[in-house]
Amino acid sequence: MVHQELIVLDRIINEIKTEKTLSHSNWERLKRVFEERFDKAWRLVQEKRIKKYVFQPSNRIVWIAVGQDAEYQIFPKAGYCSCDDFYFRVLDGNTGICYHLLAQKIVDALNSYDLIKEEDEFYDLLLKEWKTQIFVNESSISYV
Ligand SMILES: [Zn+2]
Repeated sequence: MVHQELIVLDRIINEIKTEKTLSHSNWERLKRVFEERFDKAWRLVQEKRIKKYVFQPSNRIVWIAVGQDAEYQIFPKAGYCSCDDFYFRVLDGNTGICYHLLAQKIVDALNSYDLIKEEDEFYDLLLKEWKTQIFVNESSISYV
């Protein structure tokens, strides 16, 4: 099941890249496969809450999803996201992908995301900031 949704997603992402647009039929397929996760991912896409940071001159890339309470780091190549959903559901094998990763794949395929260029000297600083937010987020849920 988990494996299957990723295969379907791969196919749709390739079509988006070829067609350079998200067709209505693919939109419906995504909604059918991912249901609520797609609704959330689509909201991130529409609200432009997926940011691509490119650090200069190294060209290091960091993808960030701006959530309600925290910002999450997405590692598309590793298929990893720093959110709770990923931690609890994806690593447990209940789902194949969290909605941040789903949104990131869509905006990347559409070539439509917030591109932020930063100097390399800010890389460590920003990374530390993102890690702190993740830490705060994790510690807050452990008390629930
Ligand atoms: Zn996530």
